[in-house]
Amino acid sequence: MTDRRNDRPQTLVRRHPLKEGVSRAVVTPIQPSVVYASPSIDMLHAQYEGRSQGYTYAREGHPNATLLAQKIDMLEGATGGLVTGSGMAAVTAAIMGLLGAGDHIIGADQLYGRSLRLMHQDLARFGIETSLVDPTDPAALRAAIRPQTKMILAEVVSNPTLRVADMAGIIAVAKEAGVRVAVDNTFTTPIGYRPFAHGADIVIHSVTKLLAGHSDVTLGYVAARDPADTKKIYDFAVTTGLTPSPYECWLAERGLYTFPLRFDRAEANAARLADWFASQPKVARVLYPGRADHPDHARAKTLLGGRYGNMLSILIDGDAAAANRMVEAMPEMAFAPTLGDVGTTLSHPPSSSHRGLTPEGRAALGITDGFFRISVGIEDVDLLIADFTAGLSAI
Ligand SMILES: *Cc1c(COP(=O)(O)O)cnc(C)c1O
Repeated sequence: MTDRRNDRPQTLVRRHPLKEGVSRAVVTPIQPSVVYASPSIDMLHAQYEGRSQGYTYAREGHPNATLLAQKIDMLEGATGGLVTGSGMAAVTAAIMGLLGAGDHIIGADQLYGRSLRLMHQDLARFGIETSLVDPTDPAALRAAIRPQTKMILAEVVSNPTLRVADMAGIIAVAKEAGVRVAVDNTFTTPIGYRPFAHGADIVIHSVTKLLAGHSDVTLGYVAARDPADTKKIYDFAVTTGLTPSPYECWLAERGLYTFPLRFDRAEANAARLADWFASQPKVARVLYPGRADHPDHARAKTLLGGRYGNMLSILIDGDAAAANRMVEAMPEMAFAPTLGDVGTTLSHPPSSSHRGLTPEGRAALGITDGFFRISVGIEDVDLLIADFTAGLSAI
């Protein structure tokens, strides 16, 4: 193509810089470029050697991931956090980036289902040994530590029984033994608990859940206290392609703007709903750490500073058929095994996250056929009460 005005060769591809004048875009631009052009070979060396800042290839980093990571860093009091393609990518990068054959990891016995599966099935294939302990029992943790133990992975509030880990005890035992503590902070979020402020070494998030908050992106986040750990986690994530796409990072950044507002509202709704459920004859048990009848309420109160979150579970007075009738009687509510969405979602762990366990295994955790987990959203709470009124009356 030739420009008729000056006869110089022209192209529509790539050579026209977008002039923005003296003003700037208010909304973060999405920068989908996979590759970044450097001005010279010397400068490329400087970039790779860290003497100059600059992106090279999107799997290694891009502006939308950097910005999102910096914002989550701010919430967590972290530096150099990494956004990953999913929460499980963050869990995987933290473990496999830091541990190797011959090492040992201790996990809490009620970790997120796929984290448990990683522990049970995958790490062993790479020669990493695993043990599981009850995170409310630091003495059991102390007994499980071996000379080869390199990491303890815990969640502050367990899924779906909402037990509260003895984080102070876990961290004290780990420090004494010189073992890293990694905290999957997805349920509690930095509003409820900031692992680094309490002495933890690694923070993990499924950004998919409350931080992004709209069930339209799958992303994770991992940050380490020690820059040497950060570098190993980053290198593993980049090598194995666990890193995220610009568009998803952009969406998550947008979701993050309203995270504190969504959290406040969803938490207030959860507290109201928990009390309402407790007054319902068809509800045999309510599990919400903010209620005085929760087994770990006292610990939750100190650990979470009164921020009990949006998650609650109930046990209805009925069997599997009654549970099914309840779900059918609430067609407007999303019956879906996720959490942290703006809208309330209802899940039934015996048929989803915990279906792989035997009925006896589920019973040991208190997860009977009438067990429901509720991720409370930001709707008008009276609407939620109307939905559950219909649901409970169908039992
Ligand atoms: C959902 C979840 C994960 C996994 O996150 P993905 O983004 O779905 O990969 C890990 N830990 C916890 C506690 C979760 O709830």
